[in-house]
Amino acid sequence: MSLFDKFQGIASVRRDLDELGIVPFGVVTERLLSATEGIVNGRRTILAGTNNYLGLTFHPECIETARAAVLEEGTGTTGSRMANGTYAGHEALEQELADFFGCGQAIVFSTGYQANLGMIATLAGPGDVVVLDADCHASIYDACRLGGCDVIRFRHNDAQDLEKRLRRLGERAQNALIVVEGLYSMQGDQAPLRDIAAVKRRRGGYLLVDEAHSLGMLGANGRGAAEAAGVEQEVDFIVGTFSKSLGAIGGYCVSHRPELELVRYAIRPYIFTASPSPSVIASVRVALRVMRAHPELRERLWENARRLYHGFRELGYDTGPEPSPVLALAMPGREQALRMWNALLENGVYVNLVLPPATPSHYPLLRCSVSAAHTPEQVERILGTFAALRRRASAVHDGPLSAEANAVSGGAG
Ligand code: PMP
Repeated sequence: MSLFDKFQGIASVRRDLDELGIVPFGVVTERLLSATEGIVNGRRTILAGTNNYLGLTFHPECIETARAAVLEEGTGTTGSRMANGTYAGHEALEQELADFFGCGQAIVFSTGYQANLGMIATLAGPGDVVVLDADCHASIYDACRLGGCDVIRFRHNDAQDLEKRLRRLGERAQNALIVVEGLYSMQGDQAPLRDIAAVKRRRGGYLLVDEAHSLGMLGANGRGAAEAAGVEQEVDFIVGTFSKSLGAIGGYCVSHRPELELVRYAIRPYIFTASPSPSVIASVRVALRVMRAHPELRERLWENARRLYHGFRELGYDTGPEPSPVLALAMPGREQALRMWNALLENGVYVNLVLPPATPSHYPLLRCSVSAAHTPEQVERILGTFAALRRRASAVHDGPLSAEANAVSGGAG
């Protein structure tokens, strides 16, 4: 028995993929041409799976301030926020986030993953209970493990099931930490936050919402799903990331609870890691300003999302009940998903391939995300490529793609 035996499963998946000649994970973007295009496998490729919702990664002002920060403050802080790694920029960004959310408190983390890990593991330790939506992101599950709390899952987006589980907890519900996402990363569906907040009012507990995918996308001011649902006052902690709408890397937690300032000093994933680089902080501060000043970016994002959603529906795909900038197309099996994903790439369209167990259902997913920076022509090219591949699949009745074409039009997932 060796330490490496447990990786045999991965080795066998890799062997299968090698036989198919497909390399789906760790695709190399050889060169970036813009926020929405790159060179992949030597081919000009539309990037339709980047979470770059507002397309700010190439915003000239973000780049210019990041460049200036490198020149003035160096390439990295080389230390933790608790030691030498808090610069004026980190504090200013925390202030700006608190101001944007209308909250007293904000903490900046080095990644969104660490924001969840740090907040949840620190708030909920041994003897505490986290009640989470079953489809929550891996960082939330990992946080529960790190904290050592009890974990209760409720059915995805089912506020009644949440209430049932809180009821069963009795008095313990008063201190339960309820964790949900604003917009779910895989399927792009939104949490029923009004219902969830009502359950919290009835049963007690604290509510943490991960707005990783909803910042800049939802709400009249882009503050996320809680703003859109009108329940911000009932959310105790909002966690998010700089790696999607804000086009950089890092994470944050905001709260109207003054205790957050005390919690900060107990968060191991905040204390025992280096703080974000000055250039990252500088670009995020500008991106936040750009996002606030340009609501038309959000409108453009939704225009693209609606066009892609309706286009997929016209092609016969089940894309869920409503348009979303994240659309997941369920494939009937791994091989069909791999072949379709690869065919898309060979035709210049990159989307995310997500295989079980990383998917919420048993089906592999082709996950697409649109950006405000996609041009209408690019959105049409994405749709046109899907359409051509589906036509080709149904022309070859016994071919590998025909099973995919039939099954997705049946609406798996
Ligand atoms: N929460 C959710 C819901 C996510 O989807 C992700 C990343 N995809 C994270 C947190 C972690 O964010 P980051 O990649 O910025 O660390």
